[in-house]
Amino acid sequence: MRLILIGPPGSGKGTQASLLSSRLGLLHIGTGDILREAVRQETAAGKLAKPFMAAGKLVPDDVVNEIVVSRFRAKDRPDQFVMDGYPRSMIQAQRFDQVLLEQGLGLDAVVLLQVADEEIVRRLSSRQREDDSAATVLHRLKIFHEAYDGLVDYFRRRGLLVGVPGMGDLETVYANIVKTVTDKIKTDKKK
Ligand code: AMP
Repeated sequence: MRLILIGPPGSGKGTQASLLSSRLGLLHIGTGDILREAVRQETAAGKLAKPFMAAGKLVPDDVVNEIVVSRFRAKDRPDQFVMDGYPRSMIQAQRFDQVLLEQGLGLDAVVLLQVADEEIVRRLSSRQREDDSAATVLHRLKIFHEAYDGLVDYFRRRGLLVGVPGMGDLETVYANIVKTVTDKIKTDKKK
């Protein structure tokens, strides 16, 4: 499977990406993890990304795109993968499309984990982390919507988007993701 996983903060997106990776053998490509590692190793990309990450801002598109594009152009490029945290802007989505086309890798689906805003606020607020105060939670949600609403429309128009309820325990959510994507692949084959 070749998937993009989209979900608001607190939706369990990272957990689901890890499950998809360990159970289905998909390569889990989390740009947040890759960037944190780049910062730790003080690579050129890491040095560029560091101030943006520290300020809780998105890292410039060209820095993130370069990381992803080089991963997909490598000799051992992934064939089956789940993207977690990328693309996060239209510029990233278009660059990702280009590299997938170039590599002959068609996406199977873009999975949107659906969790109501009120539930996200409740989940994040109960984590008791200092940076999860009510105002911060609302700010993170606002940023999520600003970044993703346009992307969600973009993938919907291309017939790639599937919504999966993100409520319930993680096994239920996982089973729903797999079933929804498998059904979509079957339907698309018949077309
Ligand atoms: P995450 O772990 O996905 O929440 O990402 C942590 C941080 O890494 C974000 O707050 C951004 O600063 C940066 N980041 C991760 N992925 C991207 C991306 N696709 N575009 C821009 N910045 C990103």
